[in-house]
Amino acid sequence: MRARGFKRGGVPVDHRAPFKTGPIENAFLPMNAIVQLREHRCAVEPIPVVSVGQEVREGQLLARSAGKASSNVHSPIPGIVRRIETTRTSGGFDSKAILVSLEGSFSMLGKRPERYLWKSLNKADISHIVQDKGIVRVSSGEPLYEILSERSDAPGFVMVVSALEMDPYRRTEEELLALRAEDVVDGCAIAARMALPARIMFAVDERIEPATLEPLRELAARSELDIAIQPFRRRFPQDLPGQIAEAMDIADPGTLFIIEPSTLVALHEAVVSNKPHIEQYVYVGGGSIKRPAILKARIGAPIGDLIEECGGFSGHPETIVIGGPFRGRAAADLDAPVTRTTRAVLALSPEETKSAPERPCVRCGDCVDACPEGLSPYRLLKLLRSGRPDDALAAGLGRCSSCGSCSYACRSRIPLVRYFDEARQNEVRR
Ligand code: SF4
Ligand code: SF4
Repeated sequence: MRARGFKRGGVPVDHRAPFKTGPIENAFLPMNAIVQLREHRCAVEPIPVVSVGQEVREGQLLARSAGKASSNVHSPIPGIVRRIETTRTSGGFDSKAILVSLEGSFSMLGKRPERYLWKSLNKADISHIVQDKGIVRVSSGEPLYEILSERSDAPGFVMVVSALEMDPYRRTEEELLALRAEDVVDGCAIAARMALPARIMFAVDERIEPATLEPLRELAARSELDIAIQPFRRRFPQDLPGQIAEAMDIADPGTLFIIEPSTLVALHEAVVSNKPHIEQYVYVGGGSIKRPAILKARIGAPIGDLIEECGGFSGHPETIVIGGPFRGRAAADLDAPVTRTTRAVLALSPEETKSAPERPCVRCGDCVDACPEGLSPYRLLKLLRSGRPDDALAAGLGRCSSCGSCSYACRSRIPLVRYFDEARQNEVRR
């Protein structure tokens, strides 16, 4: 099948980071889980329903949704609630966190999961389960029941199951297509029952392994859904809605609903096995990690434990990034907890960060070629540096998706995206 190409921007990267394929390992259980209640800056904090000193079961509700943009949060381990306090997250915003220390026995771990026949459930029943189990969209942290029900109010959209990645390090979504294809397709059917899309498209990298693609094709053909599988050319970032829409010749990216396989696996586990969102698939890698791997980690586990489990550091890392080199953020320390949106933890070597002192712009135009939004990053920077934020906004700063391609491409090592993010935050405060 012809691979669709992104029309502009992005960075061509031929190699993908070293990676150990095979069954996804369960990470060790954390002795202390720090469960962050807000996943992103705009989320509304759920309300804790436990108190310090209380005993909790694995999967017990810790905090109840406070309404829109808020989701239930459950305990990833059995134990005792030791602290409830407001902390500064790695994303740079404040959130309450509940610290649970491991104690007692597991009610789900090691037990054969229950399997409910979901096809007899109606849309309202499924929506209730998804809300109750605190399932969020892994790429954004938004409550899944909320976005699926909003979608069902505006039919005619295309649901894109995107295994495309932000950067060449991450491969989790494609691995889930390889290892849990049945659950992904079943999760897709559950999402379709709730949201009623007009069409479903699986978006995959053009170099997807045939051993992944063929079984997926068979499952798609056997399902009652109308699923098309569409390869996309490799150019990072690959996962922006605007890029995907443009490559599909769809004029309005708003008519696409993009969901990733890892979210569909969590949705499937909630509806079929009654499991809350207490685990997350995390790619642990980068040049300074001894044995890169994808781990299935409990929410709240410190990222340092995951690194330890991958053999520790193979050299001194220049930086530890949560997310990815393009759009990720530096981890404050190794105690930073895994959340429902942590998709990768990278320990990058000095060669990978290409760190060097920032030099003056040489007007090479590489950042312009790299920008998927068709912006002129060096011009935006010039306007901001000359104290003209309004002119920068008029020149498209508001359209910047913070994808990081311009910074990655810049030969003068100017952290363009950082300046743009700061400028937008200053705008919000004005
Ligand atoms: S960070 Fe913004 S300006 Fe830079 S390439 Fe991405 S969209 Fe363009
Ligand atoms: S890539 Fe860097 S050096 Fe080149 S024009 Fe853009 S900001 Fe200037």
